Amino acid sequence: MDSNKRYKIIYKKNECIGAFACVAAEPKHWEEDGDSDKADLVEGIHEGEEVYIKYLDELDNNLEAAQSCPVNCIHIIDQETGEELI
Ligand code: SF4
Repeated sequence: MDSNKRYKIIYKKNECIGAFACVAAEPKHWEEDGDSDKADLVEGIHEGEEVYIKYLDELDNNLEAAQSCPVNCIHIIDQETGEELI
């Protein structure tokens, strides 16, 4: 299963204010949701109310995307070390 990949991205969509800095930083994984004016985590798994997750072996620019988010609603966990990177 995907969950044995190294990184876990957690996106709290309800906190998103639609600044789209994440989309600019990492367009492969983030896109604009025209219906809600919030970001969508591409192929994110819906895990509870307004929470989406995605497992990746390569971070690509997702750390930059999370760091650029003005409301800090993107979190990344290194599942190998258990460290919350952001
Ligand atoms: S940067 Fe944060 S607030 Fe802006 S669209 Fe992305 S997730 Fe939403």
